[in-house]
Order: sequence, then structure tokens, then C-alpha cells
Amino acid sequence: MTNIILLGPPGAGKGTQARRLVEEWDMVQLSTGDMLKEAIAQGTELGKQVEGIMARGELVTDEIVIGLIEEKLNGDLPGGVIFDGFPRTLAQADALADLLAKMGQRLDAVIEMQVDDDVLVERVTGRSTCGNCGEVYHDVTKPQPADGKCSVCGASDFRRRPDDNEESLRKRLMEYYKKTSPLIGYYYAKGDLTGVNGLADIETVAGDIKKVLDKR
Ligand code: AMP
Repeated sequence: MTNIILLGPPGAGKGTQARRLVEEWDMVQLSTGDMLKEAIAQGTELGKQVEGIMARGELVTDEIVIGLIEEKLNGDLPGGVIFDGFPRTLAQADALADLLAKMGQRLDAVIEMQVDDDVLVERVTGRSTCGNCGEVYHDVTKPQPADGKCSVCGASDFRRRPDDNEESLRKRLMEYYKKTSPLIGYYYAKGDLTGVNGLADIETVAGDIKKVLDKR
């Protein structure tokens, strides 16, 4: 089992790389953002509770996301877990350490995806995803196919995140710097942190992540 965290601001490429790791390494992607979006789509109590918070780009409470992760960690996780968008606060990081310890598991690596803020704004405001398979597109760097069909699965259901506008992104970045970036020091001090250049193309970043995992 290999358990890793992908750490980085919104738009750093965590989701894109997590999806690749799932395909190549038989790992499970646990994205608290996706779980919360699913709750909103299904109209659950939790979804109603978090919808406004997420649209504004603020973080939901530690209690909520720790609960979601705890539930998933009780399931079957054969090849290990990629934590994508979790933990985002020191309290979440401590909770994750406790949960893994209880399961007799450990964290193998924390990969910090390093990017420039001005690139993030460009990336995030231009992005869309296939609603069926999750393939990520970008208006400038990877436009949706001219025939209107996803190049991976053929579906014609492209979506944009409601929080991928400039105002929410600014808030999400501020939340990242205030609450999440202290995790860089936290995991560095534990000897778990490796940085990768998130500005490189998708293949190169994937190769750099693979090198980190191969060393484990
Ligand atoms: P993401 O898809 O990871 O960018 O997450 C989308 C939104 O979900 C974030 O802007 C937060 O509002 C919320 N969220 C996701 N993960 C967490 C987390 N670990 N802690 C708090 N809020 C979260």
C-alpha cells in the first residue's frame, strides 16, 4: 500500500495527477472536494449545508471533511490512497495521522505541487471537465474537441465549476495561504515532503511524481 498526499493551491494540477495515478498504480483517489460536490449534486443535508461556503471559495469545517475521510478509510482500499485536497488545515493533518495510525498504515509521501499564482488564475478560470469521465480541458491549452465530444469517453457533457471564477479563486487562494500552506512546513519537519514543479507539462509532472513513489 502506498498512501500519498497531493498538496498545492487550487489549479496546481492535483486532480489531474490523481486521476493518472489511479489509472497507473491501482490507487484510490480520495478528493474531499469531489465528495462535497457529489453531496451538493444529490441535494443531501450536507450538500445544502456546504453549497454556499464552497461557492464563496471558503473552507468547510474540519469536522465535516474529517468525517468524510474517516468513512472512506473504512472501505476497501487495495493499492493505497491519494489524498487530493485533504488535509487542508493542521487539524485535518493531525486527524489524518491518527486515522492512518489506527489502521496500521502510514503516509509514504507528501508531494507539494509548486506553481506561480498568476498561472493559477489563468489555469483555473479557463478550465472545464467532462461531466462523465472527469477529463480536464482548458480553453487555451487543451480546448474541448471541435466535435463537442470528450476525447476520452465521447460524452458531450462539459462542465465548469461554479467556484472557478476570479472572485472565488481569490478567496480560495487566500484560504490556501492562510490555512493550508502551513502544512508545507509541517510535513517538511516530519521528513515527508517532496516538491515537484507543477508548471511543467502534465507528462513531466507525472514522471516526477513517479520518481518520488519509486523511491519509497
Ligand atoms: P477542491 O475541489 O479540492 O478545490 O474543493 C472545492 C471546495 O470544497 C473548497 O474550496 C472547499 O470549500 C471545500 N473543501 C474541499 N476539501 C476541503 C477540505 N479538506 N477542508 C475544507 N474544505 C474543503
